[in-house]
Amino acid sequence: MILKLDKQQIRTVLEEAYARCKNDTQGKNADYIPYLAGVPATLFGIAACLPDGELLTVGDTDFAFGIESVSKVPTALLAMSQYGADTILRQIGADATGLPFNSIMAILLENDHPSTPLVNAGAIAACSMIRPTGQSDAKWKAIKEFIETLTGSRIAVIDELYRSESETNFNNRSITWLLRNYGRIYDDPELSLDLYTRQCSLGITARQLAVMAATIASGGVNPVTHLKVFDAALTPKITALMATVGFYEHTGDWLFTTGLPAKSGVGGGILAVVPGVMGLAAFAPPLDEAGNSVKAQKALAHIADRLSLGLFNTTHGIVTETAAVPAEA
Ligand code: GLN
Repeated sequence: MILKLDKQQIRTVLEEAYARCKNDTQGKNADYIPYLAGVPATLFGIAACLPDGELLTVGDTDFAFGIESVSKVPTALLAMSQYGADTILRQIGADATGLPFNSIMAILLENDHPSTPLVNAGAIAACSMIRPTGQSDAKWKAIKEFIETLTGSRIAVIDELYRSESETNFNNRSITWLLRNYGRIYDDPELSLDLYTRQCSLGITARQLAVMAATIASGGVNPVTHLKVFDAALTPKITALMATVGFYEHTGDWLFTTGLPAKSGVGGGILAVVPGVMGLAAFAPPLDEAGNSVKAQKALAHIADRLSLGLFNTTHGIVTETAAVPAEA
């Protein structure tokens, strides 16, 4: 069966998801990073970016919130672009931990292997690998500019968040030095941790995340700027990482429910990729106990269900009326 999607249908389903989830009061803002506790809990936005670059949005999609762990996606992509996917597999790994994002136990259990660039340990290891090694400012420029190319727009650190996070990141400091002990930090440990903290403190909007997701969905070509950002061969690699561990210990539940590779952050954002079809993003600060936005999950799950977007479905999605529709099998 072939599924045909038109823009109006996608718009309708986005609005439906917004209306269904808007008044949901479940979950709680992250508070282990003091700044995040103060972000208004009622903010809520959903955005879709289509292959022709058109953005469909509903709600608070222009509010810049802390990107947090969603930043692990672009840095993993950048590390794979610089070194090749196989080197990242060897030096960081691609396994799910099944444990919380900041788990020290996960490192102790697999001490030869930080597991995946999408948990804190692997993300700090990925920051340590970013070239040019040893040069904090130049490494930061590479990370930030890569994210800007993915989103096709400028982004900036939320200074208060960066301060808040730097003053309280004792657990991440332990992770960094434990990894150093196992030979899994490939640059100065404190420099690597600071880069990770800085990237987590970037402000991003749901619109920007949707464009980033669409760039991944279209094999590395930003559909808004038309710039080639990364090699198409990396889309299946990054989406595999997202599908494996994007929601930490709730990843299986998420994949079972939606069939979509996606990545959450404790700032309340989620980026979801429908390869070849579109990029999706949702944002709402209150989180479940694994650190994933409750409303953003529910909204995206509704969209995935109503539009049959799950990768394991036996349907194919196309998003424009003008796209070629394969003959019905
Ligand atoms: N900066 C946060 C941390 O290191 C990111 C965690 C997250 O978004 N899951 O704890």
